[in-house]
Amino acid sequence: MATKHNPSPVTARNILTGLRSIMASPGNAQSKLNQVVENIAEAVSSEVCSIYLRREGVLELYATRGLNQEAVHVTKLAFGEGLTGYIAKNVETLNLDEAASHPDFQYRPETGEEKFHSFAGVPIIRNQQAVGVLCAQHIEPRKYSEEEIESFQTAAMVLSELISNAGLVDEDSVDAPEAHNNGADRLSGLQLVKGKASGFAVFHQPRVKIEHTVAEDTEAERHRVYSAFAKMRNQIDQMTSQAEFGVGGEHEEVLQTYKMFAYDEGWSRRINEAIDSGLTAEAAIERVQQHTRMRMRQIDDPLLAERMHDLEDLANRLLRIVSGQMGTAATMGLRQDTILVARNLGPAELLEYDRRRLKGVVLEEGSLTAHVTIIARAMDIPILGQVKNIRQIVRENDHLLLNVDDNALFVRPSPSMEDAFETQIELTQKKRAAYTELRDKEPVTKDGTRITLNINAGLRDDMGMLNLTGADGIGLFRTEFQFLVAANMPGRAGQLRFYRDVLDAAGDKPVIFRTVDIGGDKPLPYFQASEVKEENPAMGWRALRIGLERDALMKVQARSLIEAAAGRKLNVMFPMIAEPWEFDEARAVFEKQLDFLRQRKKQLPLSIRYGAMLEVPALAECLDLMAPRLDFLSIGTNDLTQFLFAADRSNPKLAERFDWLSPAILRFINRISKQANDLGIELSVCGEMGGRPLDALALLGLGIERLSITPASVGPIKAMVRSLDLSGAKVEIQSLLSDPPANPRTALEKWAVKQNVDLG
Ligand code: PEP
Ligand code: MG
Repeated sequence: MATKHNPSPVTARNILTGLRSIMASPGNAQSKLNQVVENIAEAVSSEVCSIYLRREGVLELYATRGLNQEAVHVTKLAFGEGLTGYIAKNVETLNLDEAASHPDFQYRPETGEEKFHSFAGVPIIRNQQAVGVLCAQHIEPRKYSEEEIESFQTAAMVLSELISNAGLVDEDSVDAPEAHNNGADRLSGLQLVKGKASGFAVFHQPRVKIEHTVAEDTEAERHRVYSAFAKMRNQIDQMTSQAEFGVGGEHEEVLQTYKMFAYDEGWSRRINEAIDSGLTAEAAIERVQQHTRMRMRQIDDPLLAERMHDLEDLANRLLRIVSGQMGTAATMGLRQDTILVARNLGPAELLEYDRRRLKGVVLEEGSLTAHVTIIARAMDIPILGQVKNIRQIVRENDHLLLNVDDNALFVRPSPSMEDAFETQIELTQKKRAAYTELRDKEPVTKDGTRITLNINAGLRDDMGMLNLTGADGIGLFRTEFQFLVAANMPGRAGQLRFYRDVLDAAGDKPVIFRTVDIGGDKPLPYFQASEVKEENPAMGWRALRIGLERDALMKVQARSLIEAAAGRKLNVMFPMIAEPWEFDEARAVFEKQLDFLRQRKKQLPLSIRYGAMLEVPALAECLDLMAPRLDFLSIGTNDLTQFLFAADRSNPKLAERFDWLSPAILRFINRISKQANDLGIELSVCGEMGGRPLDALALLGLGIERLSITPASVGPIKAMVRSLDLSGAKVEIQSLLSDPPANPRTALEKWAVKQNVDLG
């Protein structure tokens, strides 16, 4: 990050030397603050230097040199009031040669400040919030130099430590919502997993609390920063080289930018200079970051703002390394009622969290069919995605009300908003209770068609959902989830135990095990899937393609599944089949294991049914060839959509571009449905599309009578099915297909509302 200036550490160093001796001297906090303002005013040759501190929600003038002493403890400003209030509210630095020219300028007569023209002020920050303001004023209109501003920032850091040690600001009140409440923020984003939750912000990558700002030994601090830089660069190098075998795409671009920043000499030089001025390594990193933030704010360029996130991430990483505070929030004792805030998460990262404490997730990125979303849906954890600048707006421990149903996140809500939210949660619970009552009712349409409603699962805990929802069975068991949560490749014994437990828990209900679908956005950290760099991992070496190549995967899994299903029925489904021979090869792996176990006189399954997922459009052209081979076929609309539209399912920019109710998808599924019916293939849909009432209605209208959906959707979908006249829906869908309106979703919704279909 090349910001062009020539800071000299001299002023900052002078200030810091002065502050250090003031801090070490005897005397109460007030007398120290009085000395501090004298010291700083001298160092920057200003007539005025003042310190305002936040007390009882307002900024109180605590010490000044140059303003009327009678104003001390008398002048009080609200957050947002005047220039000082502006700085505190926005946690922003101001540097003005003519204070009165700023729109927020206000003049307080008791201070006698009317004669001063120039004004510079910096926030005193504690836990990402302003707890006060340090400012300087001068008679002559003059802009303070960049090095002077940096000196103020350095001084403000030290002051924050002094103030905190002296108990001048109540640390608890810093975190209290009302302390910095300027009216709750309502943010919106993209609905990823519906639901509501009230909780407290926890950063997936926690911010480091800086305890000590003044260095005891500058050389030792320099060494700490030096080795932290080396470690960080090493980590980034490793991440980029791992990206060469499986991450790719957007992640890779991010990593390349990271790499550029990580190696930026200007950045490390400025941190070094801050250390020269006498700061600790942590304080130096933070001080430079504050300064960069200020400069970036002045540049109105959205692209640069994006890059600022990268730099923030990196500075945070450096801070965590230097302070030894590594690991994500998942490993640090999660608080109750956590709402996790992150740029993005991988599926395995989400699974590390204690789901009893994790109430919701807010992401800066995220997309509807990314696997982390699917897992969260299975865990019934609401996620709001694509919330711009969330990590800047929200602070650790802020109270949040997450209402994904209404596409809203309330940050630091008022008590009346909390009350209203409580009422909404009660309503949702009532609705859920009504769905629970449907548990033992059959999903039969008004005109008598029995729809099969299965659930998607993958975690041990999901098995309880079979009973809770009253679903018919498990239509998609994503076996790769256990690979994602493991630290090493699961062995045969472990797999056997796991599959046996799943079958035991399912009892008489059928379970369709899908063989491992890793790769794409589900890379395994301990397994290198491909030795070549993949530009498009979603279309690359993933799922069955790896399975057929690596004995350790498919063979071991086949043997474990067959043994686990001894004396019972086994259903196996292969993902990402593009051509019939792939299905044949996959099936042959199972048959070979079956022979092996038969020869050893082991008890075998009563039957094995083999099915394929239709996710690759090419397979739709071979249904006649597949029919004699198949026991069942399941359309995976998540991957199918990404391949039909050439739209990466985990790319947040594409997340809202295409609709499942677009003519292309509906016509495609219509054709498959008709052909499968003619060929006598048992057909179902197991992608996320089937879990949304209106989309599921469209699928039923296309002739699909088997759905496998996320457990939380069973209630709403059953309610929809039971209120639907299927023959009418078929007519409506066919008319939408032959003459598609501009917005098929709106048109279908209108029809459904008119027909009194329960859409949840
Ligand atoms: C799909 O692609 O629609 C599907 C169900 O599989 P997954 O989401 O696990 O890729
Ligand atoms: Mg898939």
